[in-house]
Amino acid sequence: MNKHPDPPWALRDLAGILFPQRCPVCDEPLAFGPRYHAPLSAIPDPYFHPDCFKKLKILACAAKGPGPILSSSEHVWSFEKLLSLLHYNEAARFSVARFKYHGRQDFSIPYGRLMARYLGDAIRDLKGDALVPVPIHRSRLCSRGYNQAALLAWELERHLGIPCREDLVMRIKHTDAQKELGRRERLLNMKDAFRLRRMPRELERIIIVDDIFTTGSTAESLSRVLKEGGASHIFVVTLCLAGAGE
Ligand SMILES: [Zn+2]
Repeated sequence: MNKHPDPPWALRDLAGILFPQRCPVCDEPLAFGPRYHAPLSAIPDPYFHPDCFKKLKILACAAKGPGPILSSSEHVWSFEKLLSLLHYNEAARFSVARFKYHGRQDFSIPYGRLMARYLGDAIRDLKGDALVPVPIHRSRLCSRGYNQAALLAWELERHLGIPCREDLVMRIKHTDAQKELGRRERLLNMKDAFRLRRMPRELERIIIVDDIFTTGSTAESLSRVLKEGGASHIFVVTLCLAGAGE
């Protein structure tokens, strides 16, 4: 007898009766059903409308596994490797804006799953001692209510078992209007943006987690602070990579 087990329901799924889970790409409700415990490899992914999922462009380097995707010799980074899941195309742009600025913090669940699914092996290969989400300034945390990078990092901890440490670094500088600046200006703007709070000796290999990698100025600034604090190897994992994967 080939009996399928009953779908594993989680409280989160049942809460979907009152607060329907929304598809991260179109921000419209998904059909009610169990998804929280769905295997990472589930096809179609229960957190997306199938047609919406097709609008996301998973980067080839993510689909194929590990590999440095920063090759430009013009940039000298203090971190060793960047792993990004999605090309920052129109669909991703809309979705990340909802995730960051419109209270869709629950998008961290489907995106955390996707990162674990496509980048999980590559992230494990980094042998990181901790995931460190890029912190946001306290005043922004108060107005937004959450840090989307931290939510992604917590999801990665849940799937991959690498501890998320939000307590190591704080953001001490407001950095508005980064979008308008060029790379050099961004780097200057990000200088002294972070301050180390603590760095336990056993944390040697740190994986920075962020939503978007654009010019790298944020990751670079945080990476330098962590290295000055004693970390020996820094890696960067992001949901999106701007300007790549065409
Ligand atoms: Zn959709």
